[in-house]
Amino acid sequence: MQLLKDRILKDGIVKDGDVLKVDSFLNHQIDVRLLRQIGKEFRRLFADCEINKILTIESSGIGIACIAAEEFDNIPVVFAKKNQTKNIAHDVHRGKVESFTHGKTYDVIVSKDFLGKGDKVLIIDDFLAKGNALVCLSEMVKNSGAELVGAGIVIEKGYQEGGKIIRDLGIRLESLAIIDSMNENEIIFR
Ligand code: 5GP
Repeated sequence: MQLLKDRILKDGIVKDGDVLKVDSFLNHQIDVRLLRQIGKEFRRLFADCEINKILTIESSGIGIACIAAEEFDNIPVVFAKKNQTKNIAHDVHRGKVESFTHGKTYDVIVSKDFLGKGDKVLIIDDFLAKGNALVCLSEMVKNSGAELVGAGIVIEKGYQEGGKIIRDLGIRLESLAIIDSMNENEIIFR
């Protein structure tokens, strides 16, 4: 998606440790107009699919998923929570994610009330790096009895293993910008 690539080149900042900071338009301050275009692009890429729910993970995925959902006829968005709260009364699907950016392992949960048989799920997230988050979410979908239609990622770091892991699992993966290499001076897209 050229608009997105141009924005990454303009405003993305590469930090040590392989992290691309996109805080000025995606991960902290949010450019809603860009998010709308991202949502439309996901809709175009998955136009041939029947999708009735979007699943993401807190926190960065939520805004992206909500605006994308508007392009999919306002289907519900469910986000995996990183901590179990007392508000969730019923049974939950559980998973574990090792965070690429924080180096911690989180327990994540989704209430069984909001993910299960009959759901045709598109997973949406901001980044794909090693694939931990996406593998965890896809396992939760499968274990719940829902159907996993595919995954939409805004920025895939193509030199890390996540993309290969997900494609090898047979999951349809659409990434809007794939980075082949990056350092403080340049970002090269596939
Ligand atoms: P993975 O589970 O694929 O290793 O990492 C995906 C998650 O880590 C994403 O949800 C995202 O929040 C975070 N992440 C991974 N790489 C980057 C990065 O380069 N920049 C930012 N901002 N987040 C990243």
